[in-house]
Amino acid sequence: MGLSEFALIERIRARAAGRDDVLLGIGDDAALLQPPAGQALAVSTDTLNLGVHFSADVVPADLGWKALAVNLSDLAAMAATPAWATLSLSLPTPDAAWLDGFLDGLLALATAQGVAVVGGDTTHGPLSISLTVIGFVPADQALRRDGAGVGDGVWISGTTGDAAAALALGDAAPAALRERLHRPTPRLALGRALRGIASACIDISDGLIADLGHLLVASGVGAELCIADLPISPALRALDDPRRLDWQLAGGDDYELCFSVPAAQEANLVARLDEFDVALARIGRIVAGSGCRVLDDEGRPLPLARAGYDHFERR
Ligand code: ADP
Ligand code: MG
Repeated sequence: MGLSEFALIERIRARAAGRDDVLLGIGDDAALLQPPAGQALAVSTDTLNLGVHFSADVVPADLGWKALAVNLSDLAAMAATPAWATLSLSLPTPDAAWLDGFLDGLLALATAQGVAVVGGDTTHGPLSISLTVIGFVPADQALRRDGAGVGDGVWISGTTGDAAAALALGDAAPAALRERLHRPTPRLALGRALRGIASACIDISDGLIADLGHLLVASGVGAELCIADLPISPALRALDDPRRLDWQLAGGDDYELCFSVPAAQEANLVARLDEFDVALARIGRIVAGSGCRVLDDEGRPLPLARAGYDHFERR
């Protein structure tokens, strides 16, 4: 069924849940939002383009979930609590069934995380989804990329490589891996729990080495990782594929958190591991200098095939 622009917007408005701090949501020229006193706003935008970030056969509900999840992952990395989102849709055809499926996925995650969709834009064009999320964090408790110090441990949540394996294997990938590609879990509770514990944090979207690399540059330090300490999911281990380590180190689409923890905070973190809904692993340490070295079981540096995903590489 084809819809007009205004019918599309009305379909979104009818399903979007509110919040007390949304003074005016979808329908006027701008939303009116009441930020909490004493907190900084954390704002992040991500765009998903057909053919670049997803393929035409993606399930609309998965796309809706992921469009929000990748944004919320950025707020998680800042230790922020998400509150509001705006949704910009560029659609080739105004398809009601597609929109309903897309909203099923997006609003499932929005509801679970208490996020209100407060506005957006709807245009005609190649399929593209852009979301902006806004959250709150006390400014002095935000986790930034630039706080890592020499001697800090390097930690990650969950496991990496699952989504990249699912992408590479397509329909042949086990369901557990496909779930990780299509329904990533933003680590929001963990990010907030790391306030006062982590010295720096980033979410892993373009590959562990690449994103840790951004944290290292911002902090002016280097890192050494031990592959023996790299966590791996049972499903990825069971594949026994030679590309496994490449996926773990450089695959991307993981949406886990990578963070540094000063020695003085490590006992505090270890004592609290049971509180988190995701496993944490210490995979290395921050060292003086620059760059990231990955050491094999004998402590020898591994040559790294590629660092991660760069949209403008070789163009
Ligand atoms: P204007 O032309 O004044 O920018 P629009 O017609 O673009 O207004 O939007 C009307 C209202 O609908 C606005 O409140 C806008 O935020 C909201 N809106 C438009 N597109 C979307 C969308 N895809 N998701 C959520 N809200 C939307
Ligand atoms: Mg507009």
